[in-house]
Amino acid sequence: MDYTKQKSALEAKLADHEVRLAGVTKDITKTLSSDFAEQATERENDDVLEEIGKETQVSIAHIKAALQRIEDHTYGQCARCGADIGFARLEAIPETAYCVKCADLVN
Ligand SMILES: [Zn+2]
Repeated sequence: MDYTKQKSALEAKLADHEVRLAGVTKDITKTLSSDFAEQATERENDDVLEEIGKETQVSIAHIKAALQRIEDHTYGQCARCGADIGFARLEAIPETAYCVKCADLVN
């Protein structure tokens, strides 16, 4: 099976996520304004950004793991039951490690 398409999709997605993560990190670390009301709003924004940052990091880990599976020639096999994940599913979610059946069970 040729996964060239999935590989470039994953690499593009990875680059995209890394840009987003860098942006989020930059926004969080910017200095708070001197206004107290402003600070409260900024802290709330930071919480949201932190949440986005965490989700982005998890996605990055999944994408990197998928790229590793391509290298290891285990890509496209369900990590839980070993069945073929299926080309349509891999096209929709290239970073998935599970077939449709197992994805329901692990989530
Ligand atoms: Zn499975």
